[in-house]
Amino acid sequence: MSSDPPRATRRLFDPPATLARLSSGPRAERLVHVHQVPARSEQVAPWPEWVAPAVYSAFSTSGVTTLWTHQREAADCAHDGTHVVISTGTASGKSLGYLLPVLSDVVDGAAAPSGRGATALYLSPTKALAADQLARLSALAIPGLRAATYDGDTPTDERRWIREHAQYVLTNPDLVHHSLLPGHPRWAPFLRSLRYVVIDECHVYRGVFGSHLAALLRRLRRVAARYGAFPTFILASATVADPQAQACALIGMPVRPVTHDGSPREAMTFGLWEPALVHRDAGLGGDAGSGGGGGQRLDAPHRRSAVTEAADLLADLVVDGVQTVAFGRSRAGVEAIAASARRSLLEVDPALGTSVAAYRGGYLPEERRELESGLRSGALRGLAATNALELGIDVSGLDAVLMAGWPGTCASLWQQAGRAGRNGSASLALLIAGDDPLDTYLVHHPEALFERPVEAAVLDPQNPYVLGPHLAAAAAELPLTAADALVFGPTMVGLLEVLVARGLLRRRPGGWFWTRPERATDHVSLRGTGETVRIVERSTGRVLGTVDGPAAHSSVHTGAVYVHQGQPYVVAHYDEDDSHAIVVAGDPGWSTRARSVSAFDIGHVEQSQVWGPVELCFGSVEVRSQVTSFLRVLPGGKVLGEHALDLPERSLHTKAVWWTMTPQMLEAAGIPEPSIPGAAHAAEHATIGMLPLVATSDRWDIGGVSTALHPDTGRPTILVYDGHPGGAGFAERGFRAATIWLTATRDAILACECATGCPSCVHSPKCGNGNEPLDKSGAVALLTAVLAGSTQGTRGQPGRRDSAQTPDVE
Ligand SMILES: [Zn+2]
Ligand SMILES: [Zn+2]
Repeated sequence: MSSDPPRATRRLFDPPATLARLSSGPRAERLVHVHQVPARSEQVAPWPEWVAPAVYSAFSTSGVTTLWTHQREAADCAHDGTHVVISTGTASGKSLGYLLPVLSDVVDGAAAPSGRGATALYLSPTKALAADQLARLSALAIPGLRAATYDGDTPTDERRWIREHAQYVLTNPDLVHHSLLPGHPRWAPFLRSLRYVVIDECHVYRGVFGSHLAALLRRLRRVAARYGAFPTFILASATVADPQAQACALIGMPVRPVTHDGSPREAMTFGLWEPALVHRDAGLGGDAGSGGGGGQRLDAPHRRSAVTEAADLLADLVVDGVQTVAFGRSRAGVEAIAASARRSLLEVDPALGTSVAAYRGGYLPEERRELESGLRSGALRGLAATNALELGIDVSGLDAVLMAGWPGTCASLWQQAGRAGRNGSASLALLIAGDDPLDTYLVHHPEALFERPVEAAVLDPQNPYVLGPHLAAAAAELPLTAADALVFGPTMVGLLEVLVARGLLRRRPGGWFWTRPERATDHVSLRGTGETVRIVERSTGRVLGTVDGPAAHSSVHTGAVYVHQGQPYVVAHYDEDDSHAIVVAGDPGWSTRARSVSAFDIGHVEQSQVWGPVELCFGSVEVRSQVTSFLRVLPGGKVLGEHALDLPERSLHTKAVWWTMTPQMLEAAGIPEPSIPGAAHAAEHATIGMLPLVATSDRWDIGGVSTALHPDTGRPTILVYDGHPGGAGFAERGFRAATIWLTATRDAILACECATGCPSCVHSPKCGNGNEPLDKSGAVALLTAVLAGSTQGTRGQPGRRDSAQTPDVE
C-alpha cells in the first residue's frame, strides 16, 4: 500500500450502537437475533508443586505467572499418567495444559545418562501449526530442552540429529505414517523414552480422516509398546459436544475430559443476519422453461447471497471507522467481497478505495507481513479472507468480524469470531446466513450456537476400508499376532484373513507377515479411502488437484464445467479407466449440472428403533447410482440443453440411517399417495442439509435417496448415507441424535418464509433430479408425523442445538 488514506478519528467503538445503525431502514428485518456474549472473569489455580524449576522460571519470565483452572486440571491429569482431552474455547491457553507436564518431564529427563530420560511427540494437522508451536517454545529458552519440527521438508542430516538427540519432536500424522513407524528401528532410542503424545486440534480428525488417525495411533501404541513405552496421550480440542467420546475413539483407551474453561473473555455482541428473499430476475434468466426435463427450478425464490450482503456491511463498517475482517467460504467469494466493498467505498470517498484488501491464503510471507502491518497501522480498515487466515496471518484485535455463511463448524465460528476484540474492549460479530437449510436453522435458533454444543466430531475406528490397509502397514512394522486384537479391535482377525486371501500378508506360526517387496504404507493415504481422480490441465500437463472417486462422475464428466479454486475449467475428456480428467481453462459462460438415478439395497440392520408406525434403522447398505446426463445452465437459470452421458453404474458399500413410513400414517398427516414422492424428496434434502448440526461433516460427505416404495422395505423410505466406502460415522450420529436432527430439520423448513421451497430449505445444489418433485409443506407434515412416535430420549431439548445438516450427494 503506497499511501495511507487519512484515518477517520477513532470514536469509541460501541458494538450495539453500530449494529443498530447497520440494521436500520430497509435492513430492519435482516437482523434476526442479537446475543450478548457476556464478559467472563478468569478462574485461576496455583502452580503445581511438580513443575520443573526451569520450566516454571521460563514461563514466569515470559509473563505467565498464574494458571487458569482448566490448565491446572489437565496438567495434573497428564502428569499422573491419565489420558486427557482439553476441550475449551479459542485462545484459552490449552497448550499450557500439556506443556507443563511434557516440558517438566523432558527437562528432568535431560539429567539421565542418555540425555533423554523422557521424550514427547507432538502431532498437529498442519506444518504451519507445528512451526508456530516450535517458535513459541524456542522463545521460552528453556535450558536443556531440545525441540525440533520434523516434516517432509526437514533435511536428511537434520533428521538424523533429531532422531538421535531431540526430546520433543513436533510433526504431523503423515510423517508418523510414512516415515516414523515404517522406520521405527532408527527411532528406537526416542521411542524407548516416549512419555507423552500430544494431539493438537484433535477435532479435525473426524470422518474418514479420523478413522485413519485412530488406526495410526493404534499402530504407534503397538510399536511404542515393543520398546517398552506406554505414553500418556494429551489431546486438545475445540469445543464440541462430546470430546471424550471422540478422544476415546481416536486413541482406543479411556480419556478424562477437561471442559470447564477458566480463561477470561471480553464481551461480544453477536448478531445473526438473514439476507432478504428475492425472486429471480426474469430478464436475467430469459425464458423459464427447462424443457420439461426438470432442471433448475426457475420459479423458485432465493436469498440475496451472503457474499453480496457481507460486502455491503463491510463497506458500511469501514465508512464508520470500524476495523473489520469479513470471512468468506471460498477464494472466489473473498475476491468478490473485497471488490464489491471497494467499489462502494470509492463512491463514498476515493481515499477509502484502497483501505480494503483480500487475503485468500497462498500468499508469500512478505505479502502476509505487509497485510499485517497495514492492519496494525490502520491503513487497512477492511479485510476479506478465507479460513486460510486461521493459520497463516496474525490478525487479532480488530473491532468486528463478518462471517458470510456458516463456516462449517462451531469451532470455526468461534475461531473466526475470536479475531475481533482488543484487550479491554467489546467487539462485534455477525453471522450472515447463506442459502442453505442449516444456515436458516441457525439464525433462527440462536440457542444452537450459544448454549451447550450438540455438534460432535465423529469417526468410526472399525471402518474396514480404512483399518484393513493400516493392518497391512502394522504387519510390515512388526508381525501381527492374535493378541494385537486388544489394540486393533475385534474385527482384526477377520480383516487379516482377507489380506491373506488377497496375497498381501502371509500367515506363519509366528503371526501375520507382510511379504511384498513394496512399502505397505505407500498404499494408504491418510486423507481418504484411496480412490481419487486426477484433474490434469491439457495445455501444461499439470495436475491441478484431485476429486474423490465417488464424486468424479457428477463433477468431472466430459463436458462438465469444473471450478477449481475459483477458476472455471471445462472437462475435455474424462477417462474412467485411468482415473483422470483432462481440463481446459476458461469460462464458457454456463455451468453444468449432472443428473443421476440412485437406488439402494439394505444389507445388514445394526440398530433400530420403532417409533409407532415408523421404523428407524442404522446399518450397512449398498447405494447404486448412475450419472445419466448433464444440463448446461446459464447464470440466470436458463437451461441451454441436456446431454446424455454413457457412464457405468457405481456402487458404494457404506453405512446409512433410514426410516420407513406407512402410506396410512402419511395419508392421515395430509399426504395422499401421489404427494409422497415430493414430500419424501424434500424431507430428504433438508435432512441431509441439517446433519452437520449434530455431526461435524461437510455437506459433500453425505448423500441421500428417497423412495415412495422401496423393494426391500415395501414402504416409503428415506435414506441418508455416508458418502465414503465403509462409512464415516456421520450416519450413525444421525441415528443416535435422530430426534434432535429431524426436529431441527422440520424447524428449519418452517422458518423459511418462501412459499414452495428454495435453497434455504428444501432445494439441494447436488440434486440428481433437478430438484423435482419437491413438496415443502408435505415435508413438514411428513417429519411431524415421523416425530410424533419418537421414543428417543434426547439429551438436549428437541429443536435446540442439535441437528445435522449436510447437503445432497445424490
Ligand atoms: Zn425456502
Ligand atoms: Zn434430490
